[in-house]
Amino acid sequence: MSTSPVFDADHFKSQFPLFSQSENRQLVYLDNAATTQKPLVVIDAIRDFYLHSNANTHRSSHRLARRATEMVERVRGQAADFLGAASTREIIFTRGATEGLNLLAHSLSADLQAGDEIVLTTAEHHANLVPWQMVAERLGLVIRYVPEIAGVPQFERLPEVLSSRTRIVSMTAGSNALGFRTDLQQMRKLLADRELAWIVDAAQLAAHSAVDVKTIGCDFLVCSAHKFYGPSGIGLLYGRADLLDTLPPWQGGGEMIADVDLHSSHYAALPHKFEPGTSSLAAIAGLGAAIDFLNGQDRTAIAAHEQHLLSLIHKNLGDIPEISLLSRPENNLGIVSLVSDRCAPVDLMQWLDGKDIAVRVGHHCAQPLARAAGHTATLRASLAGYNTEDDVAQFVAAVREFVQQLD
Ligand code: PLP
Repeated sequence: MSTSPVFDADHFKSQFPLFSQSENRQLVYLDNAATTQKPLVVIDAIRDFYLHSNANTHRSSHRLARRATEMVERVRGQAADFLGAASTREIIFTRGATEGLNLLAHSLSADLQAGDEIVLTTAEHHANLVPWQMVAERLGLVIRYVPEIAGVPQFERLPEVLSSRTRIVSMTAGSNALGFRTDLQQMRKLLADRELAWIVDAAQLAAHSAVDVKTIGCDFLVCSAHKFYGPSGIGLLYGRADLLDTLPPWQGGGEMIADVDLHSSHYAALPHKFEPGTSSLAAIAGLGAAIDFLNGQDRTAIAAHEQHLLSLIHKNLGDIPEISLLSRPENNLGIVSLVSDRCAPVDLMQWLDGKDIAVRVGHHCAQPLARAAGHTATLRASLAGYNTEDDVAQFVAAVREFVQQLD
């Protein structure tokens, strides 16, 4: 049996055509934290855009241009609902979480002075570290980190690194390397009444849980469509409209202006102020289909299914002496992380690849976390709704087989 009692993973999987290609029938895809596969509806939406609606938006007013523009604004509305935003003015299309964070680092830093402080955690993806390091270097800002043990933030100790100079707190909603979730409600309480910008990196969270910016209470939030069954090259930045209104744009160009003369420009109103040039229009169509697709699922059931598989993996690998599990099954976004003192993770990864089991090895773009935990590389297996008990059984059996050969 390859389904858990609450969720029909086989049916869910049947909507993803990659798995029915003859060369992928045996594939066990456990690299979902890097990117998810795409359901047919998303692939069709991209194709349909080019077949029926391809034109540039805004600039022109002919029939196709109007259709493309309507599509983009319709998806913006879907995205606002998807994230719980109050208005479409609060939704900026980006290339992904990385671009959203770079935009924020650039635009928020316009108002910062040398000595101002930014608070991050040691568990951040490089996308939420490097942009801040770049502006800190340029402006003489101070970056402080939430106290940690072996790289894992002790989130409840956040107040220890807040000061009257803290202007920005930017943190992940869940670790892409170890899977643990941040208690965002606890963060909200700890940050209440502070005069600072609170940014949440929901790149991993959005695939596994409904996201509601009102419940979270953050000022800004970023995510990438490709991690929640949508296309690559498109992401969302949510920002409170009153804050976005006051921020300068980060890139200049067409589409983001109201008026230009040879000396200066007046910027367009939200959200277009932050969307210079031609967006990835077909990807926006695909994002709309991905949101529709997710809205049509029982997301609680998918999460329960993923949790069930995650617990199975931890239970079945937990008693192998040669394997150390770095992840915990509780409060986890579907990520298993392991090392072995008997072999390099890359050797195990290659063994698994030989059996068509796709996992990832490395620091997972969270090098400070890996280093603090004493590792240069870990092996990560990450789950999505289409993974099955069969996938888990094959993964566990292959790991056991590999380990037995070490004797
Ligand atoms: N933040 C986290 C937590 C991630 O896991 C990732 C990607 O793995 C990113 C940011 C960057 O996402 P993207 O490469 O889609 O911009």
